[in-house]
Amino acid sequence: MPQAYHCHALVLKKTKLGESDLIVTLLSEDGRQLRCVAKGARKPGSRFAARLELFSVAEVFMHQGRSLDTVTDARLVGQGSYRWGSDPARAAAACVLCEFLEKATREGDGEPRLFPLCVEALRCIGTQEHDALELLVAAALLKCAAQMGYRPALYECSSCGEPLGDLGSGGGLGFSLEGGGGLCAPCAVASAKLDPAFLGWLRLLLGGRLADLAALEGAPCGRMLDFSCRWVEAHLGITLRSVALLRDILCGLGRG
Ligand SMILES: [Zn+2]
Repeated sequence: MPQAYHCHALVLKKTKLGESDLIVTLLSEDGRQLRCVAKGARKPGSRFAARLELFSVAEVFMHQGRSLDTVTDARLVGQGSYRWGSDPARAAAACVLCEFLEKATREGDGEPRLFPLCVEALRCIGTQEHDALELLVAAALLKCAAQMGYRPALYECSSCGEPLGDLGSGGGLGFSLEGGGGLCAPCAVASAKLDPAFLGWLRLLLGGRLADLAALEGAPCGRMLDFSCRWVEAHLGITLRSVALLRDILCGLGRG
């Protein structure tokens, strides 16, 4: 008898399989990645089509299979979809986060804090203004990386551990992407310089609530997203291809 189980999960990706099936990649509520088959999901009128919607949370019922598990039923949870289909900018922003999760998570074990963080990030992406999208994605990526053990040092020198001090007295600070974060003036001699104002924005991004980010004015959104992308590339080895699409769409809207 195959073993049945169910869980809450975020729908990260759907890939065609055969004539009418789908492989669905999920982030489970325990932070593990699940890949499963939804049989007949691409047939007209399939009940899975609306219940396994991309970037949405679903309660998924499954049967263990020999290689991939099979979805037997699913239902959308909570607010469900934010009408991604009618808003390419928000869909592109959600896509960047889901590309990250697909590449960063594993089937074997997971970080449970990723799930509530990413559900909240997608809620914000789905409901806030287009102006906030780059900042939301930048913050979500950085928070995810931090929860996976790759938190940039923003308050103490990543080389010697000395406090980096208040932002007003931040002259001469440096930053080392590979070294893990900010550098005090004596350690920063040969490194890239760190603008104290940018350090302040990084602290807000990493320490602040996602829902509050949209209210921040004057943030260097493009630079912050650049920073987060370079951070996950340097520390998790992940290159996010979908960022270019988000940038193109925001440019087309006269933003970003
Ligand atoms: Zn130092």
